Amino acid sequence: MKDVLVIGGGIAGIQASLDLAEMGIQVHLVEKSPSIGGRMAQLDKTFPTNDCSTCILSPKMVDCARHPKITIHTLAEVQAVDGEAGDFTAQVLKRPRYVDEHACTACGDCAKVCPIVRPDEFQMGLSTRRAIYIPFPQAIPQAYLSDPADCLGKDPIACGRCIRACQKGCIDFDMTETVIELAVGAIVVAVGMETFDPVALSEYGYTRYPDVITGIEFERLICASGPSGGHLIRLTDRKEPSVIGFIQCVGSRSLKYQRFCSSVCCMHATKEAILAREHLPDVKSYIFYTDLRASGKGFRQYIDRAQKEYDVEYIRSRVAQIEENEDGRLVFHYEDENSRPQQMVVDLAVLATSLIPGPGVAILSRLLGLELDEYGFFRTNPFSPTDTTREGVFTCGCCRGPSDIPQSVAQASGAAARAAQYVMEIKDIEE
Ligand code: SF4
Ligand code: SF4
Repeated sequence: MKDVLVIGGGIAGIQASLDLAEMGIQVHLVEKSPSIGGRMAQLDKTFPTNDCSTCILSPKMVDCARHPKITIHTLAEVQAVDGEAGDFTAQVLKRPRYVDEHACTACGDCAKVCPIVRPDEFQMGLSTRRAIYIPFPQAIPQAYLSDPADCLGKDPIACGRCIRACQKGCIDFDMTETVIELAVGAIVVAVGMETFDPVALSEYGYTRYPDVITGIEFERLICASGPSGGHLIRLTDRKEPSVIGFIQCVGSRSLKYQRFCSSVCCMHATKEAILAREHLPDVKSYIFYTDLRASGKGFRQYIDRAQKEYDVEYIRSRVAQIEENEDGRLVFHYEDENSRPQQMVVDLAVLATSLIPGPGVAILSRLLGLELDEYGFFRTNPFSPTDTTREGVFTCGCCRGPSDIPQSVAQASGAAARAAQYVMEIKDIEE
């Protein structure tokens, strides 16, 4: 059997890799960031069960790392792919970590002496990291890395403190980029998505008002491993909010930005409103929505629970503008269902930013010769929904369109099964 290349180490890529490996197929899992885990690693809980996100994801990440049939390549990007279904050759560029990932014990001694402080990307810039760091505590591989853009350098005059602090001697600033060649029979593309930057919607004042935050920032704030240790606070005065306003469809269902529905945000906001109430029993949440898209299993009941048990109120309206009043609170201007102008004062505004194709989608579409749909996601076959427009290349997760976690996992298993058909040389399931 040929190997399979899985591009993208989020939940979809992880699930596809595990399924293929369990079929006895050798998998190369290529991830461009320093750790696998993807967006799901940043979530506090999952809907509609409120299960701990890390508790579901982390064992799968560890299974990937330990599986003898899976080789994980982090800090790696596919640069070229030649060949055809059943016989592809991929060139993969691996950027240096500057730390031996097999020798590093993740003790953190290096970071303690590093003088460079930078915004922590995993915490959405709400806390800081050092130039040598581990992306998050459950990262796989469990190894630190040095960011060459920030590091002062190994020269003892410039710095080199981390080298002297590391008793394992596993920091090596002479590491260089390498290119590896992989012969694979099929490819699964699972490069996920980005979120829309709400700065474009100046009427909401994102970055102008610190207490206007995005859904992902809310996830980090409410998470026990987040920058506030799980205490839900306003960023201006670090006080607990009494009223939270969630604004849906920020960048979605818009003629100017994304015309499509991001599909997960109604449930995502519902979950966040429930969690807010679990953390702060007196908090009141309002969700300003366009339509309630609750089409998944148990989703409608989840919204009913939010209304009845957590006092979450849904208002069908688009907020036109947010202003700050003299008390430093946020004023929402909106129309009610009878088109009457209304105002509401809240302490924290949470924007449900749309899910958009990340830059990796356009790059891989060119590299692999894959067609995109009208919204910039990978075009798929409606009757074989993980098949891309190129034979032997399959896709799953948010790079084929906005998907929640159960959908991404189901698609991943579908893509893995289709890829397995190619490497097992069963091109037609009916043969
Ligand atoms: Fe510890 Fe060295 Fe790894 Fe830093 S690089 S975490 S000091 S083992
Ligand atoms: Fe930090 Fe770079 Fe100095 Fe190491 S050499 S301590 S990574 S600035």
